[in-house]
Amino acid sequence: MTATKTFAEVLHKGFRVSFDADRILYEQKTEHQHLVLFENACFGRVLMLDDITQVTTADEFVYHEMLSHVPILAHGNARQVLIIGGGDCGLAEEALKHETVERLTQVEIDRAVVDFAAEHFAEMNAAVFEDARFDLVIADGVEFVAASDRRFDVILVDSTDPVGPGSVLFTKEFYAGCRRVLRPGGVLVTQNGVPFMQADELVDSVGHFAGLFADAGCYLATVPTYVGGQMALGWATDDTGLRNVSEAVLNERFAAANLDTSYYTPAVHRAAFALPRYIDELVEKGRRRAA
Ligand code: SAM
Repeated sequence: MTATKTFAEVLHKGFRVSFDADRILYEQKTEHQHLVLFENACFGRVLMLDDITQVTTADEFVYHEMLSHVPILAHGNARQVLIIGGGDCGLAEEALKHETVERLTQVEIDRAVVDFAAEHFAEMNAAVFEDARFDLVIADGVEFVAASDRRFDVILVDSTDPVGPGSVLFTKEFYAGCRRVLRPGGVLVTQNGVPFMQADELVDSVGHFAGLFADAGCYLATVPTYVGGQMALGWATDDTGLRNVSEAVLNERFAAANLDTSYYTPAVHRAAFALPRYIDELVEKGRRRAA
C-alpha cells in the first residue's frame, strides 16, 4: 500500500524518526493534547500525542511488561497499585494480571485518551474495563499524590515526556508526593526516556529521587519505538534490598503469578539493573547532585 502521510516524532534535538501512515484512523485535538492514531507497516497501530510516540501495538509488550512486572515481582506482595498517566491502559492490563493486586488506581489527566484507547486498543486493554479492581480517576497526577489519603505498595509513572502536561511528572514536588503516598517498603518506577538522547532527564530524576529515597537509580529495557538505545525506567525506594531480589525468588514469584510474557523473564529482570558505564555515570551524577 502506498503511504499517504508521514508522521515525524520531534522529541529529540537534531534527530527525528518518521513513520509512514498507511491509514490515519483517528485524529483529535483533546482538551490537553493533539492525538493521532495511524497504521504503520512495521509497528501496527501507532498512537502519538503532541507529535511524540506513545504506544504501538507491535512493541507495547516490552514497555508494559517491564514497567509493571519488575517492581511488582520485586516487591512480592503488592496489593495497592497506583498508575499515574497510562492513558492507553496497556500498563493497567499488565499490572492487573497479578492476582495479589487488590485495587489498581489509575490517575490520568486526559479522559479522551482513555475513551479513545478503550475503543481502539481493545486487544491490549479490554480486560481492564471488566475488572472490578480497576479504579480510574481523571485528575492531574501531581495534585492526586499531594492530597490523597490512600497509600500504595507500588507506583508506576507511565507519563508522556517532560513536555506539555507531562512535564510536572518529572519534578521534585511530584516525586515527594509519590513518597508521601507510598507505604513503607514500597517502590516507585517511572518512564525516564532514552538516556543516550535524554541524559539530563535521567540525571534530574535520579537527583530528585536521591534527595527523597534511600535507593535511587534506574533499570533498562529496549523498546524499539523509543529510539537511541535502551530506555531508562526510574527506580526509587527506601528498601535497598528490592533491586537485589534473587533470581530464585523471582522465579518462584513469576511461576506463582502465572504470567504469559514476551519480554519479561526473571533473568531479564536481574540483568535490567546492570547499567552500561555511560548510563551508570549519569545515575551517579544524579546521586551526587543530591548529596
Ligand atoms: N508509554 C508512553 C510513553 O512513554 O511514550 C506513555 C503512555 S501514556 C499514553 C501517557 C499518559 O500520561 C497520557 O495519556 C497523558 O494524558 C498522561 N499525562 C500527562 N500528564 C499527566 C499528568 N500531569 N497527570 C496525569 N496524567 C498525565
